[in-house]
Amino acid sequence: MKQELYDFLNTDLQFIRGVGPVLAARFCDLLGGRRVLDFLLHTPYTVRNRGITEHVMDATHGDTITIPLLVKSHRAGGNFGRGRRRPTVITCADKTGQPVAIQFFNSSYLDYWLKKLPIGAWRIVSGKIEMSAGRPTINHPDFIEEMQNADKIPLNQAIYPSGAGLTQKIFSNVRDQIFVALPEKLNGADDKTREFFDALRHVHFASSPDDLTPNATYIAKLAYWELLAHQSAIVISRRHRDDAANRRTVRPKKYDLMDKFRAALPFELTGAQNRTINEIFADMAADTPMMRLVQGDVGSGKTIVALAAAIKMAETGAQTALLAPTDTLAMQHFAKLKPMCDKIGIVCDILTGRDKGTARKEKLISLRSGRTRLVVGTHALFSTDVEYRDLGLVIIDEQHRFGVTQREALRTKGTNPDILALSATPIPRTLSMTIYGDMDVSIINEKPAGRKPIKTTKLPMARVGDLIAHIKPQIDSGAKVFWVCPLVDESDTTDMTAVQTRFDALKQVFSNVGLVHGQMDKKDRDATMQKFADDNSGMNILVATTVIEVGIDVPRATIIVIENAERFGLAALHQLRGRVGRGNTQSYCVLIYGDNISNDGLKRLNVLCETDDGFAIAEQDLMMRGVGELLGTKQSGWIQYHFVDYREHRDLFRLASGAARDNEIDAFTHDLMYIFDCGVNVGA
Ligand code: ADP
Ligand code: MG
Repeated sequence: MKQELYDFLNTDLQFIRGVGPVLAARFCDLLGGRRVLDFLLHTPYTVRNRGITEHVMDATHGDTITIPLLVKSHRAGGNFGRGRRRPTVITCADKTGQPVAIQFFNSSYLDYWLKKLPIGAWRIVSGKIEMSAGRPTINHPDFIEEMQNADKIPLNQAIYPSGAGLTQKIFSNVRDQIFVALPEKLNGADDKTREFFDALRHVHFASSPDDLTPNATYIAKLAYWELLAHQSAIVISRRHRDDAANRRTVRPKKYDLMDKFRAALPFELTGAQNRTINEIFADMAADTPMMRLVQGDVGSGKTIVALAAAIKMAETGAQTALLAPTDTLAMQHFAKLKPMCDKIGIVCDILTGRDKGTARKEKLISLRSGRTRLVVGTHALFSTDVEYRDLGLVIIDEQHRFGVTQREALRTKGTNPDILALSATPIPRTLSMTIYGDMDVSIINEKPAGRKPIKTTKLPMARVGDLIAHIKPQIDSGAKVFWVCPLVDESDTTDMTAVQTRFDALKQVFSNVGLVHGQMDKKDRDATMQKFADDNSGMNILVATTVIEVGIDVPRATIIVIENAERFGLAALHQLRGRVGRGNTQSYCVLIYGDNISNDGLKRLNVLCETDDGFAIAEQDLMMRGVGELLGTKQSGWIQYHFVDYREHRDLFRLASGAARDNEIDAFTHDLMYIFDCGVNVGA
């Protein structure tokens, strides 16, 4: 790739006009990176048409409408104590005199809104129309313009998945600037590279939702290239592993710890756990580094399998790093593993971004000296100043993003360490080979004895009141409840309003309710999660808009309520459900669905009600075609592709893996591997 283009793709978003460090940090939260490239790979999911509608009666509940309105009256809102709020209401009328209300819930910008909508003036207003008490209402319009400025409202607006407090206006601004600058950077680029960025441009400027479906021309092209990048990386990685020149000498055993490990176990291992442990031990004794993925449904007991591997490594005197996706999960693992390691007699420590100063220094010294044999932590484990004496094994728990690059980066911290990945998302067998072609797979398909299947039911929204009355006694006697309210678009104010309303309503009934959502600061979010997990905090309901962290263990949480469950994909629902049922107490999952649930939506909910088997669900998930925008499909734990759709692109999978295997890997493919973050560095 030409240096100029490379530099441009790596430009920090804070240098884009109108962005700056604060917004760039938010982009980083949302995209997992803050470069122009990260933005380019984050593409719109739908297109909203904002053509003008003259009569409000032509729109139905949920439509986006752009309509000329005459402002009739103002009623200021405000706070009324005890969390009760009255919205600001601006009553308007369309051309035929039909009333339309505009509502604002946030009273801090009151003057601003009232000035934008003076009584007696015509304004063109665009936003989502909702029937509220039988009256057409627009909550927090997306656009309010004077009549002569109607063209400031985009006719077809590409909508980005948002969150972290980023609005659609910010997205379109950044996009416009990037694509104005891009052609110059492509000067002298080859045809394929131009074709690639041209496809990206078409997707970012999509003018109809049809342009964004999996089989739309440019999406399918990008999906193919993305697959080609991943498959090529897998081929390179495989060849590297198989290369006789990379054989290693197996570390000799110095200590006997396995008996102590078995004695320290508080339970009998299941057959599947034993089998997996044996497969891992065989890998560790081989002269090629282990590269194994353990797939086991939530609650199948993967942590103990990981510990067994760490202890096996400790027998040689070498070290193990256990990488968790979040601080919370790292601390949870540490709390469980430390007492067992104490019994066995090995030093176990934790290292996260929270460790600072002398405490951190001491931890690093202990790692460098080799005294610490098992260290649990987040990405902090691989900061440049963290040195290991002999890192023999890296265990990666529940990592959403675990592409080839990540694996390669880990390898460089030790001398070709063994790698063990744990995933709670079963991958249908048909896909496992194409996704993790360079890894061996163990499957834990058996749950610890005594586990009760989670009782799952579905319920229409109208019966939420009954549900609340029903769970109240259980909560009073100590049960904890996850209450999930999905937001497709975290900046969508109507959805956010719904969550706030639910939160307020629950607060009326229950004393101590927590709330976490995507627009919150990560620190506050973590703190609330922690409080909910803490038995003594008294917080017994947690309302969450963001998908609750995979792997979080709140043993007393025995009920999960999922609102608008029809908006989620099967795998995501199954993952969410796995937040409960982690002990031997009977747990419950209640799937609440809205009025406009589709047949497919109902089918999905029925699958969940009927089975608890993650592998069966994964197969179904692959079979059933997604309808519209399903939440959590991308985050379901399989490799997170930007453009690839597991259901729709199976032919592309085959094509790309064939091409990667048979064709020489050319410069363009190398660029693709860089762009899609799966470039392998086999030299390291
Ligand atoms: P996951 O596979 O989701 O990571 P965990 O490792 O967190 O599951 O295990 C879930 C719970 O089951 C933990 O409390 C763990 O102690 C317990 N557990 C694991 N294996 C067994 C077993 N063989 N018998 C009984 N309980 C077990
Ligand atoms: Mg786990």
